[in-house]
Amino acid sequence: MTRRPTLRVALPAPLDQLFDYLPPVACPEPIPGQRVRVPFGRGERCGVVMARAQDSELSVDRLKAVAAVLDDAPLLDSGDLGFLNWTAAYYHHPVGEVVGAAFPVTLRRGEPAVPLGESGWALTEQGATLDAQALRRAPRQAEVIAWLAELGGRAPQSLLRESIGECASALRGLRDKGLITAVELPPEPGLPTKGVAPELHDEQAEAVAAVTGALGGYAGFLLDGVTGSGKTEVYLRLAEQVLERGRSLLLLVPEIGLTPQLVKRFARRLGDRLAVLHSGLGEREREIAWQRARLGLAPVVIGTRSAVFTPVPDLGLVVVDEEHDPSFKQQEGFRYSARDLAVVRAQRAQCPVVLGSATPSLESIKNVRDGRYRALRLTRRAGGANPPRLDLVDVRGQPLDAGLSPVLGKAIGDTLAAGQQALIFLNRRGFAPVLSCYSCGWLSDCPRCDARQTLHARSGLLWCHHCGSQRRVPTTCPACGSDQLNPLGAGTERLEQTLKARFDNVPVLRIDRDSTSRKGSFDKLLAQIHGGEAMILVGTQMLAKGHHFPDVTLVGALDVDGGLFGADFRAAERMAQLVLQVAGRAGRGKKPGRVLIQTRYPEHPLLQILVHHGYGAFAEAALAERREALWPPYGSQALLRAEATDPDAPQDFLSAVYQLASPHADPVQLWGPVPAPMMRRAGRYRAHLLLQANDRAPLHRIIRWLLPQIRALKSARKVRWSLDVDPLDLY
Ligand code: ADP
Ligand code: ZN
Ligand code: ZN
Repeated sequence: MTRRPTLRVALPAPLDQLFDYLPPVACPEPIPGQRVRVPFGRGERCGVVMARAQDSELSVDRLKAVAAVLDDAPLLDSGDLGFLNWTAAYYHHPVGEVVGAAFPVTLRRGEPAVPLGESGWALTEQGATLDAQALRRAPRQAEVIAWLAELGGRAPQSLLRESIGECASALRGLRDKGLITAVELPPEPGLPTKGVAPELHDEQAEAVAAVTGALGGYAGFLLDGVTGSGKTEVYLRLAEQVLERGRSLLLLVPEIGLTPQLVKRFARRLGDRLAVLHSGLGEREREIAWQRARLGLAPVVIGTRSAVFTPVPDLGLVVVDEEHDPSFKQQEGFRYSARDLAVVRAQRAQCPVVLGSATPSLESIKNVRDGRYRALRLTRRAGGANPPRLDLVDVRGQPLDAGLSPVLGKAIGDTLAAGQQALIFLNRRGFAPVLSCYSCGWLSDCPRCDARQTLHARSGLLWCHHCGSQRRVPTTCPACGSDQLNPLGAGTERLEQTLKARFDNVPVLRIDRDSTSRKGSFDKLLAQIHGGEAMILVGTQMLAKGHHFPDVTLVGALDVDGGLFGADFRAAERMAQLVLQVAGRAGRGKKPGRVLIQTRYPEHPLLQILVHHGYGAFAEAALAERREALWPPYGSQALLRAEATDPDAPQDFLSAVYQLASPHADPVQLWGPVPAPMMRRAGRYRAHLLLQANDRAPLHRIIRWLLPQIRALKSARKVRWSLDVDPLDLY
């Protein structure tokens, strides 16, 4: 014990503690929120001062001094630090790693904050007065010119890319023609543009009024609006309201929901007062966006999951779009739910939070029932489009061609004949989920997982989607040498091939992670779709979100039955959400839409309710099931996972934890340990122990009590283990 003023520093280390240091010798003492470099082990690390104290548990000879102070002023304020502390405590995660997640990687590494100016592009005089016809044969360049003009003649390079997609070659072309010129832009936003806002329809106006009326204090809202009902327009109006009051807005969107169209809509109305944060940014771009947000230069922050930690001064409103989306949950390392944290952040900042979705999570629907959130409903599509009609197609006993039933095949033909677009949803990429030998029964098992390697015909690979292992497709059976190798089942590649053969005069576009992995390729596909000619789109859940396809009038959903009988209790909810999100792509233009859902279980009650009574009724039924079983949202869970190359180590470890916990567990229930549904993955054996309770408090109490003892267990050293609070998947 030492009685000296010390600084408590958060460091990136897997230890659940702060580290004490003496103030630096040669410079003024840093205050909480400033980054420092400190001696650690044999080297140095960069961390953040979290607090100042009058003493330390350590003896004076073990206390070292801060080596350097990295910032002149704190990067995080006390509100930010409080939020991060709360988060670390709730998820029982080392605070140093939680604090690290709040910083862009350059600053986390201890690099000095860069100057904030950004390179951009400005119209030259020639470009500004260009005749619209002049770039007729370079549509992409014309688009850039028009967009620059709308933004007031100049824009940062990053905003251009985020709002109209990859456009580097168009920019180069325009520069070479002397129509635009490279400029250095100051960090302050330019003049706000004034895009024209449509007049709100009644339901939108009510929603905007309700949230606006609540600005200035905490309130939770669920904006429950069918796809195309104008939710984004509501967010835009709210953004304007918030800016008018001199406050800022944090808008979280799912990874796939952050589309150029969305950013463009915001930029058109709010100019470059935007900061866009997502995982695809370069390190420096991310730091600039983060700094502009932190300094209030960009009072509208749009970002994916980790943007929930962005420091934003004068936070006036938090919005989570597509709040049901699983991508808000970080599934590895520091496991957190950005959706849930957004609500906490709003509570702490005393501002409203709006959770928007066409298919809200059961958690949020229950929160409405319990009076914690107020529901705002948008029941009609904006602009008068009618909702699509849903029908089930019974495929029992039907001849299927790459999974396609005759009914769906005919519907596609009719759609194309009418000059319209059809979208076929199959949430499985690759050619076929397994390659098999007809002679001996060999299957393309993954050598490292309890799973099959997927056949990717285009790249000639067998590829495991769980661990990434790959090998060349064999020409003869590795077991018996026979050449009777056959793909079983169908993925998007096979479906694409089948459709191309069947409708050989129309384009078939495949949209999945494989077909869009090259930079700019997704934008090209989207441009082709928006051309509006008859075509077939084949895709995975990448197609389900954010996009507006006005010429799609038919949606077919293949292979949804897994969702009815999945091992996971959330499987049905996911299935319903995905199907409705994809369905929402149909008939968004003037033409009515139709949705055909193929199934072998047309009488399944959940499917019946979904198709005939809609998502609200489905959610009621699903919630009733959850209540029976006391699954979330009727109970709280935490999952302790363990894995090791030794098949017994995970069970041994979890059994030891069970022994420790069970005498003290009541009222928390312990389920397991049991092997994970996929017992072996990437060469490791996996098992888990589920902790469940009706209320959160006792669950967290026992976790707090257990963790130090778990860390001290001998068997803990033989496994990799992790704790997942509010897990989304029980694997
Ligand atoms: P959502 O976010 O619920 O899917 P959007 O806000 O994207 O819905 O709106 C769907 C379409 O309707 C968009 O093209 C949008 O411009 C248009 N729209 C939204 N609100 C209105 C309105 N009040 N009047 C006319 N068109 C609207
Ligand atoms: Zn064989
Ligand atoms: Zn594998």
